[in-house]
Amino acid sequence: MLTQECLQDAVKYGECFIKFGKTAEYIPELARVNKYHLGACIVGLDGTVMEYGDTRTPFTIQSISKLASLILAISDRGADYLFHDKVGVEPTGDPFNSIIKLETKTKPFNPFINAGAITVASCIDGKDSDEKFERFLQFIRKVCGNEEIALNEAVYLSEKSTGDRNRALAYYLKASGILEGNVEECLDFYFKMCSVNVTAVDIAQMSAVLANHGACPSTGEVLIEPESAKAIRALMLTCGMYDGSGEFAMTVGFPAKSGVGGGIAAALVDRMGIGVFGPALDEKGNSIGGIKILEYLSKKMDFNLF
Ligand code: GLU
Repeated sequence: MLTQECLQDAVKYGECFIKFGKTAEYIPELARVNKYHLGACIVGLDGTVMEYGDTRTPFTIQSISKLASLILAISDRGADYLFHDKVGVEPTGDPFNSIIKLETKTKPFNPFINAGAITVASCIDGKDSDEKFERFLQFIRKVCGNEEIALNEAVYLSEKSTGDRNRALAYYLKASGILEGNVEECLDFYFKMCSVNVTAVDIAQMSAVLANHGACPSTGEVLIEPESAKAIRALMLTCGMYDGSGEFAMTVGFPAKSGVGGGIAAALVDRMGIGVFGPALDEKGNSIGGIKILEYLSKKMDFNLF
């Protein structure tokens, strides 16, 4: 059985690797974050919460938001349309913000690389970025069980003023007929959804819902269609850790999604949700201490699916 002591040992082990990582410097506001934060939270499917370290420190959700936006887009447009016409479901092996395959392939490889996530953002219903964001915020609050979740205005403005690479992706996608609607409205929504403040506890709660086939572990309320939850877990496993997804599957072996804010959300089906936070990143953009925590837990507790 997983004990508090084991979780503590996992975090202590992860701490040894922080010195090798760096915060996400390409977003000026993220570069200022103290890289020595580290914490992990586990939410069991009976609703129990176990946590150690910096689990209540807010950080921006970044790419982990792509789980929630994809769920919304699937419910607005249907999985068939989305995965047939708009984004693929294959890993790329390229960095998350890569532009290289857009010219040779009509649609982005998967919904978690930036090109795919910006496309998905354009498919969410709402007359403008404010309406889309309001829907996103309501959903993320519900699925994390935290009504206090809100936008980090400083990170949003920092991303918006420096996000030229994402702007380039979006305009290219619009020119290819993939991105729908107004490009600037779509980007504004995308920058906002990435800049929502969450904690390790919040993302552990969301992961527990995914692990519980879409039902909230404590209330039983269905928040995500079971088929969507299944698709999301599959995509997390194959594409959730950027171009480090294959190695993560080999060394850790369960579905997870990381963000450059330092979070990792992991969903162990029928078992638990895990949320970790450690803003020091490896060269692929994944939390360096966070990965080590998950690796430790996977080995100690035999969590590896394979
Ligand atoms: N907002 C970030 C970007 O678009 C998200 C990247 C990430 O967390 O992978 O660059």
